[in-house]
Amino acid sequence: MESSKRLKEVREQIAEKTRVIIEAFCQRALLANEIASLKKQLNLPIEDYLVEKNLAEQVRSICVRYGLDPSKGLKLLNFLISESISLQKSLQTPLITPKTVFEETRRLEEQGSKVIHLEVGEPDFGPPQRVVDAAIRALKEGRTHYTSQYGIAELRRALADKMSERWKASIRSNEILVTPGGRAALVLALSSTLTPGDSAIIIEPAWPAYRKCVESLGCRARVLHTRFEDEWEPDVSKIEDLIDETTKAIIINSPCNPTGKIFAKKTMNSIIDVATKHNLTILSDEAYAEFSYTDRYSLLPEDCTKIVIGTFSKGWGMTGFRLGYLITSSEKCDVMAELAGDLYTSVPEPIQIAGLAALDCFDEVDVYVALMKERCRLITSLLKSLPVEFKEPDGAFYVFFKLSRGENAQEFVEQLLREKLVALTPGSGFGDYPQFVRLSFCRPEEELREGVARMRELLL
Ligand code: PMP
Repeated sequence: MESSKRLKEVREQIAEKTRVIIEAFCQRALLANEIASLKKQLNLPIEDYLVEKNLAEQVRSICVRYGLDPSKGLKLLNFLISESISLQKSLQTPLITPKTVFEETRRLEEQGSKVIHLEVGEPDFGPPQRVVDAAIRALKEGRTHYTSQYGIAELRRALADKMSERWKASIRSNEILVTPGGRAALVLALSSTLTPGDSAIIIEPAWPAYRKCVESLGCRARVLHTRFEDEWEPDVSKIEDLIDETTKAIIINSPCNPTGKIFAKKTMNSIIDVATKHNLTILSDEAYAEFSYTDRYSLLPEDCTKIVIGTFSKGWGMTGFRLGYLITSSEKCDVMAELAGDLYTSVPEPIQIAGLAALDCFDEVDVYVALMKERCRLITSLLKSLPVEFKEPDGAFYVFFKLSRGENAQEFVEQLLREKLVALTPGSGFGDYPQFVRLSFCRPEEELREGVARMRELLL
């Protein structure tokens, strides 16, 4: 009787606390609105990690006072800050985004215009013939069933062997998970590493999927900005400022989309040191590994907690096959495989068999890479004749440039598409880089020459 009376009392108290929290939350949202317009007037960035750090310190001491694990309070703080940020972002005047370029390009093409596509990050070559033949043979032989959610044993074994050989590592089959492309690999890796309220570090400019995926999991993306003036090399000493008890992962992408940057070995080692010290998982997106025009090394042989993402999309021209893979510890593979099974059962069997054939086609991959390297040489020499500034890409197939006379890059992208029918991707798609533009050199020589000629007409 006593207990049920007490339960009633406590329930009323907890309901009252909940009302107080929700009311405070609503008041906080109103203040966030006001901050948004003040920051806009003062031309200040939306995110300010110093302010967050001070708040985090206060949250920590409150938690300690109540004997609560501080990471619980910090997770709630991450949630509140994410809410403020999305509120503030929704009040910004919309910039031209990759999506608006895509829509405008489609509209122009539907009207019959012929657009030069220097915005798409997709090779113009298809897969080697042996890959196509293998897929057809698999279909004809009836290899069209569900497979293990880890991927077929032959492909896992072949990937383990090939990657061990290429990167001088020692990878076992049970450390490989076959996925429907690199994008799904990213989703599996982040979903199995983060829980709502956690945070992950992203090095920008970056492929926008990182931020989207982190945020869609209810987590906070903390950004380490790299600068053109530093040749896009990250200042690793700043990473520790972004880490707290909620930080679980750091995502690196080398060669990088959109800058083409390959991080210096020293930088990679420092990132590994920081990650190891703070028990972070390194998510190494090696989607462009094949397209390295200078020295390159994978994270694979390094001794740290890591998940490596690979894909057949770029190196083998297999974007539409949707085939990728993850390399990590067998324990992490088990966790991700369970999630993979729940999400999509398995990668289509004929596609996996095509992937097996692709691993015997490194000669063709070398030809594709040589072609891209040649296009890289061509496009950078063409761009040098324009009033633009950029760092020569070390890898991938993009040039990330800015207009050197201070012209508005957003307007340039819009005007170039509307008036000259050349599509580029605005830098705002990759982080806070509105003055930059990404050019993808995945097109034949004549189109690259024609695209640059049309850019010249607008710029000179
Ligand atoms: N990582 C990066 C950096 C990318 O740019 C892309 C594709 N644009 C991918 C991964 C994933 O490619 P896919 O899903 O086709 O394997």
